[in-house]
Amino acid sequence: MKKLIIPLIALFISACQPSDKVVLDNGLLRLTFDRSTAHLISMTDLETGYEYLDLTAAPKTLWELAPREEGCEFDLPTKASVCSWSKNKAVLKWRQEDGRGIEVTATVSLDKTKPMSYWDIELTSFEGDKLMEVYFPRISNIKEFTNEEVAIAPWTGHLYKNYRKVSNVLSQRSVIRPTMQVEVIYGEEPSGLYIATNDVNSMAKGSYFEFEGNTTTYKHVYMLPMSAENSSFSSSYQSIIGTLHGDWYDAAQIYREWALQQEWVKNNRLHSGKMNSWLPETDIWMWNRGRSNNVLTEAADLKEYLGDYNVSVLWHWWHNGPYDDAFPEYLPPREGRESFVKAVAEAKAKGINMTPYMNSIQWGESRKSWTELNISQYSARKSDGTTHANKYNKYTENPITPMCMSQEFWHEIYSNLCDTVVNSYGSTGVYLDQACLHYCCYNPNHGHTVGGGNYWVKGYLKLVELIREKTKEANPVLTGEGSGEDWMAHLDGFLTLEASTERVEGLVHKEIIPFFNAVYHEYAITFGQFGGFTYPPYDEFWPKEFRAPNTETLLPAKYNTQLRMEQARNFVWGIQPTIVNYHAFARKARPVEMKYIAELVAKRKQYKDYMQYGKMMRAPKLANNYATEIEIAQMSTYSYKNEGTNLFPHKKVVPLLYSSAWRNKEGNILLAFTNISEEAKDMAFTINPTEMGLDENFTLYIDGVAQNGVPQSKYEVVIKGCSTKIFEFKKE
Ligand SMILES: [Zn+2]
Repeated sequence: MKKLIIPLIALFISACQPSDKVVLDNGLLRLTFDRSTAHLISMTDLETGYEYLDLTAAPKTLWELAPREEGCEFDLPTKASVCSWSKNKAVLKWRQEDGRGIEVTATVSLDKTKPMSYWDIELTSFEGDKLMEVYFPRISNIKEFTNEEVAIAPWTGHLYKNYRKVSNVLSQRSVIRPTMQVEVIYGEEPSGLYIATNDVNSMAKGSYFEFEGNTTTYKHVYMLPMSAENSSFSSSYQSIIGTLHGDWYDAAQIYREWALQQEWVKNNRLHSGKMNSWLPETDIWMWNRGRSNNVLTEAADLKEYLGDYNVSVLWHWWHNGPYDDAFPEYLPPREGRESFVKAVAEAKAKGINMTPYMNSIQWGESRKSWTELNISQYSARKSDGTTHANKYNKYTENPITPMCMSQEFWHEIYSNLCDTVVNSYGSTGVYLDQACLHYCCYNPNHGHTVGGGNYWVKGYLKLVELIREKTKEANPVLTGEGSGEDWMAHLDGFLTLEASTERVEGLVHKEIIPFFNAVYHEYAITFGQFGGFTYPPYDEFWPKEFRAPNTETLLPAKYNTQLRMEQARNFVWGIQPTIVNYHAFARKARPVEMKYIAELVAKRKQYKDYMQYGKMMRAPKLANNYATEIEIAQMSTYSYKNEGTNLFPHKKVVPLLYSSAWRNKEGNILLAFTNISEEAKDMAFTINPTEMGLDENFTLYIDGVAQNGVPQSKYEVVIKGCSTKIFEFKKE
């Protein structure tokens, strides 16, 4: 994507008189436009009186165009006007006096009862093969908030604090992880900004927060379907801009009101009755790699250790050919079909289920099949015509390349693989790697709209349906990488890895938040993380010379607190527990951590109607979370070759106490706490009983023991080291 084209009228500074203003006002939110430039010149929260915009700064035009190629000239509008308006709605137009060139029409309306505004855009008379993206609305001059926080939702959710100090842009765009369509920016001021879209068709989209000095420009990105025959565009969904009184959790509750009405919630797999029961019955996942004796044998050991709990397996590197290289040549299993099938059957007999890994979008370019079958014709293309080839594998340096999800050829190939793994090998599930992504494909020969559109998600969902058709009888659990509302009616489980962000990314300028869970928890099963007891494993098919000597051996004990932190995050966020690269030697080597994991697993199972099927409430506020500096192991599977190490140590200050709150279907409330330190801690916390619907009819049980008295807003209790504390308020 090249230089942006901004219409000349953007350079005019408005000096309008009161009569030059067009005001939309619903008693809650007021938007003021300059009648002669169509600039947004004021945005006010009428409940708090807060003005969002810096009124001294020059406003920018409400839209921007991005051409496909640099040097591309557009015949742009020269004149702006507000051509009609009422108290709640305005139509803004940009065009040339003589009607030549591109014409832009924006409609802005206010909700009748909420402090929300809705933004639509229409473009006509443009050259459809040159215009790639439209940015609208472009809300400029948003004043910096004090101790500013921006929350976005790739994966489970990211919270950026004072991000303008480290970067001038925060964007979500291609490759997109369209987890949810809500973002938020706020600070200590009484009002923050709620930003969302209401797309029900999975269109390709993105967003930018651009930080300039003390202001921010927010831009929503429409990726346009491109074609020489196409000269008009009309947005199929709206951007929503409104007020927010609170934080990201409050924003999640606003979004949830809309989200729960959508098809992906109404038809979600968890409540549909279609999901194989072993997934909701899973108590812990074990994510190991290699042959069955490094995977299923260890799962059996873990199950024996835990006792009456269900262990399920995410199984990498069972397949033929090197990882991140030989895709999709997965068959036969590296240990041979017979051995694999026998091991799977034995595990199943012990109640252990498994989802073997198969990347659901990539093809390795080093494979003979790549050239023999001319696979590149099915691959997704960037706007410059090149593929998205990526050398993930730093040892073999062979690229793998995403297929276009619209292609039936790929649907057949991948669904047949799933068919074999489930129906012939007896696997009870498949893990569809890189599922919840969204690429734009600019290959004009694929039969889909070029660039923008919804062919990626729709194509992917078709693939999932084809797999379901071929495996109907076995009804495998299909899980995908990442979470996403678009997939909730199709995939059973979502691998969300962010509990262990530091293990992969080290120290990053973001806090992980359960934004997705705060909206969708009881409608989507999430699981996973990268945390485990060992150094990274090494694929037996990778070049022997780059294998690190510490491969899959025990990490130093100083990283035990990090592991407990990762487990604690999964626990309080309601994510199914997961342990990575588990080996029986952990029982003796890490008894404290093993006992802690067992306790978290047991408590989650005991209170499953909250922690899996309940609504995530606002977490209790701890008076002191005992933030302490701990040792962090950042590990990289692929670094050993060049850096001679696979461990990059850090230190980070993290809380030792963690909390969450849940409401079950009966309206009872659960407060879950855990202490990751080895010492007992005095724990004091506050809740808002009214917000939680608690009154004198509720009895409090602490760890199952009934207490006297009515619900309070403040409690103090001692929580033992490496343990949990459960407060359950039950309506009697
Ligand atoms: Zn394509």
